Amino acid sequence: MKFFLEVIFISKLNPTIYNINKVHELINDIKEGLMNNEFSLFYQPIINLKSKKIEGFEALIRWSNQKKGNISPEKFIPLVENEYIILDIGKFVIEQSVKDLKIIKKNINQGLKMSINVSINELINKSYSDNLIQTLYLNNIPYNDYTIEITETSSIKDISSIFENLYKLKKVGINIALDDFGVGYSSLSYLKYLPISTIKIDKLFVSNLPKNLQDKVIVSSIIEIAKSMNILVIAEGIENIEQEKVLVSVNCNFGQGYFYSAPLQLPDVLNLNF
Ligand code: C2E
Ligand code: CA
Ligand code: CA
Repeated sequence: MKFFLEVIFISKLNPTIYNINKVHELINDIKEGLMNNEFSLFYQPIINLKSKKIEGFEALIRWSNQKKGNISPEKFIPLVENEYIILDIGKFVIEQSVKDLKIIKKNINQGLKMSINVSINELINKSYSDNLIQTLYLNNIPYNDYTIEITETSSIKDISSIFENLYKLKKVGINIALDDFGVGYSSLSYLKYLPISTIKIDKLFVSNLPKNLQDKVIVSSIIEIAKSMNILVIAEGIENIEQEKVLVSVNCNFGQGYFYSAPLQLPDVLNLNF
């Protein structure tokens, strides 16, 4: 535990240098944007690499602002993930994704699943797990059909609340995935101390397959570690069949990427050919 804390505090993922006034302005724009329905979720299919069937979807947030145009989550999430506004963003993501999963299940297949991205500091809110569990319960979504994807971060505010929330979610069967595995410094300690059921291999290690032998060794080693810990593996950023072939050959469970589909709006998800 002590080692884990030390590692996450020295980890310098995403060292964002930014202007405080700019962040205040951004927070206000996000507040307004949430009220004016400027945010939406797109859904990217996650494919079972053995059966090639769709297992479920990852919800990815989109922000379309009249003045600023489309703003990528890669730009605004890192700037606000230590601010209280991240809790409002998270609330929107839970509500919208659960509502849409209900529609997806009803129209396509009851077995389909949903993953959402959660900034780890959203989990400092002690009632996070109770809220999520209650929302799923009220909407008749089986807990096991829902996953939260968390990413290693450089600044954690309240580790005990984060642990408490994660173990409560795990206890009822909600899955916890470790996103961007291998990119940060402390991926292995997250694996050791947190109740992780799935690892997502970042596209950084997938994009140069099959040519880059080092990446192939890294990917197959991650999969071996995961298998021995009973953890499932999703590879992200699959863009061609050669990459898929390598991942199948090393027994990767699931895949995601433009090769299968870009993130889609709900009506396009409902029109997918299953
Ligand atoms: P991530 O969770 O690692 O998501 C994967 C990113 O890769 C997404 O970018 C996705 O659109 C993109 N992608 C998917 N397939 C491919 C591919 O084949 N090739 C390439 N090059 N890229 C692919 P996106 O949607 O811009 O999201 C960026 C990051 O923003 C996400 O990375 C995640 O960390 C964060 N994010 C997105 N939505 C949310 C959210 O609702 N809440 C929070 N807290 N973070 C979010
Ligand atoms: Ca993710
Ligand atoms: Ca990633």
